[in-house]
Amino acid sequence: MQTHFSPAQLADPQFAESERILRACVHCGFCTATCPTYLLTGDELDGPRGRIYLAKDMLERNRSADATTVKHLDRCLTCLACMTTCPSGVHYMHLVDHARQHIERTYRRPLPDRFFRALLAFVLPHTGRFRMALRMAAVVQPLRSAFPGRLRQLLDAARLGAGSSGRVGSAPAGSEAEGTKRISVVPRSPAKPAESPSRAAHAGATGRAIRRVALLPGCVQPVLRPEINDAAIRLLNRFGVEVVVAAGTGCCGALVHHMGRERQAGAQAKADIDAWTREIDARGLDAIIVTASGCGTMLKDYGFLFRGDAAYAEKARRVSELAGDVTEIVAQMLGEDAFAGTSAGAERAESGNGGTSLPDIGRLRVAYHSACSLQHGQKLHALPQQLLKRAGFNVIDVPEGHICCGSAGTYSLLQPEMSTQLRERKARNIESVSPDVIATGNIGCITHIAQGTRIPIVHTVELLDWATGGPRPRALG
Ligand code: SF4
Ligand code: SF4
Repeated sequence: MQTHFSPAQLADPQFAESERILRACVHCGFCTATCPTYLLTGDELDGPRGRIYLAKDMLERNRSADATTVKHLDRCLTCLACMTTCPSGVHYMHLVDHARQHIERTYRRPLPDRFFRALLAFVLPHTGRFRMALRMAAVVQPLRSAFPGRLRQLLDAARLGAGSSGRVGSAPAGSEAEGTKRISVVPRSPAKPAESPSRAAHAGATGRAIRRVALLPGCVQPVLRPEINDAAIRLLNRFGVEVVVAAGTGCCGALVHHMGRERQAGAQAKADIDAWTREIDARGLDAIIVTASGCGTMLKDYGFLFRGDAAYAEKARRVSELAGDVTEIVAQMLGEDAFAGTSAGAERAESGNGGTSLPDIGRLRVAYHSACSLQHGQKLHALPQQLLKRAGFNVIDVPEGHICCGSAGTYSLLQPEMSTQLRERKARNIESVSPDVIATGNIGCITHIAQGTRIPIVHTVELLDWATGGPRPRALG
């Protein structure tokens, strides 16, 4: 694609990068076929190629964003299916990041929109505020009809989000919400089940870890589904991996990054980078584990995002190199025999691994929902399914598995109509294969899909933990 940026614009590394991305696009339109929003509207401007043209025009002319450009870029889920499809390697994600930052700087949204977005950016990335907001939402729920549309919608989302887990969780020790404490969970001995993270932490003094990793606590996930990080810690701990939650870590910045709030996202990311750098310098880390795949995509991009920041470029690059989805780390660290002899049913009963009421997990039909941020953002589609199979589960494919469920961070709150349509489509596809349970790797997908189906939905790591001696996932009853 021809571009016409001025030399002054190209002196800016962000414009230079966008020009490089735009020049890679050959207008072929292959990406359009896999774009969820194009599937819904059939409008070229709701597809990647149309959005690329809109971003190009806005950035090239360095003009303020207009309502049309904002409308169609806001409708983009950042699912990145277009990047998987594109034969020319167009890095749509970095282009749309730039475009959204430009919109945030140059476009004045209507007052209700500004208020709503500011509210989300104020509450969601902070575990304590989010937990408080859920509790307040529960209190005012009977008065919901008195609230204006957007707030009423937020109340409904809060009720349904908390309802999908059945409880509002407490903050993880060591997280931003908890203050300056830090936990270090060390196994008593490799390959033995740890009963719970807190119990293992007390047993740490005598443990010998074969690896040492940091866990990103996250922001909304510890409130909605605290059992996910618990399961990840137990699973790794069981295989001899020490897990630490570094003091000061919390939200990775992704939620506000996708809203174009560059400064806020940068501050949140830097707080995490600083915390992990202290941990690396003090005792070293073999990896930084993420259990919410949207956050994993963000961490892996820190090196790019801070490439021009003299104080953070090197630290951010180091964090990105260490970052990995929990399934990736399990596979890397534990190798092919990760689940040998620890899978379902009779084998476990005979070995005594796991104690009472052993489930015949081999008969459980698991529909694996491949979160966009894992399959398109991190190119991790087969690995989580392979781990589940190796652990003994009967994993089944979901039709249209490459299409987004409509969650996409704050998208479900900001674009409820499209988000709901995509959720219904996803739920229909999942239900068509009659699974007993849905497994996925992202909290956004879990809470969103749970609102569209009665089939229980859990995080992949909860099943892996269960198969190797952990408790039955709570969502399975
Ligand atoms: S990121 Fe997803 S929604 Fe956005 S243009 Fe690409 S395929 Fe479409
Ligand atoms: S598939 Fe790639 S090269 Fe083709 S139009 Fe889409 S972004 Fe451009």
